[in-house]
Amino acid sequence: MVQIPIIFEESKSGLQSFNCFVTENNGQLILIDGGIPHDAFFQYAEQMLMQRGYDFSDLDAIYLTHHHEDHVGLLPLILAKKQLPVYVHEEAIPRLLFDTNFLSMRIAFYEQFYTRMDCLADARPRLEKQRATLQKASEKRIEADYRVIAAGDKLGRFDIIGLPGHSTDSIGYYDAQTQELYAGDTILKNTSTNAIIDPLVTGEYMPANLLQRQSLETIKDMPIRHLYAGHQPSFSNVSEIATQKISRLNDKAQHLLTLLEQPMTGRQATQAFYNRLYERQFSLVLSEIAGQLDYLQQQQKITATFENGLYVFERNG
Ligand SMILES: [Zn+2]
Repeated sequence: MVQIPIIFEESKSGLQSFNCFVTENNGQLILIDGGIPHDAFFQYAEQMLMQRGYDFSDLDAIYLTHHHEDHVGLLPLILAKKQLPVYVHEEAIPRLLFDTNFLSMRIAFYEQFYTRMDCLADARPRLEKQRATLQKASEKRIEADYRVIAAGDKLGRFDIIGLPGHSTDSIGYYDAQTQELYAGDTILKNTSTNAIIDPLVTGEYMPANLLQRQSLETIKDMPIRHLYAGHQPSFSNVSEIATQKISRLNDKAQHLLTLLEQPMTGRQATQAFYNRLYERQFSLVLSEIAGQLDYLQQQQKITATFENGLYVFERNG
């Protein structure tokens, strides 16, 4: 079977590399994920294909693990050469199309979320950026022949595995015969994966941390001989790495719990936990702490009280 890993190393990026994979399914040549929108990446991917006697026009389909921009970068270029079906989770579609109704809903969602987390003022630049994206939606949209797939579906040799948490639309492609999983960014060997707060298409809140934990448990318990990741090296000791990631999440939750001896808002808890990273990586660290606060509430370790339009979190007992 054709198996061409495209591992584009970038030491400057904390992600270390941007990965996508060419393989076969259903007698077709497929690309799993689409990398970053840079010429250097395109040339590298083209070179990797050429070494094996292929080029982009030989592809029959593209499968996405999720919609993030570092996984769909080459789609416009590839699809301009040849119209291909693009398989995605349904949550990916309004995001890839930069659907203006969806983007407007999402801005309203974040305004409410940041207000309740006591950080609307600090979120202004991010909300401005989202409004600018809404204005440029038509330039950014990626038109394609999208085919919706869902957890539990079968697609040739692959079972589709739901892996939400990093994004609402994260899915894995699992071959039960070879026990290989293409897992996107759900689990990375060397760094932790952000569980990003992002509304569902319905506008509903998605408890990213709780879902990320479930997805890590799913991966931990699956028979996997080899995991192909969206960044960094692929690996084989999957259960061990998944266990490490879960215990790291638990350690961080435990640390947050010790800080919540005094009642705090979401902003105060994030600042207490991350100090200056709160400003430098505002949306990521806020997502992480909001997610961990959901987890601590689910574990009945803390209580959230809604007063004067925002949440105050306090340790129980
Ligand atoms: Zn990624």
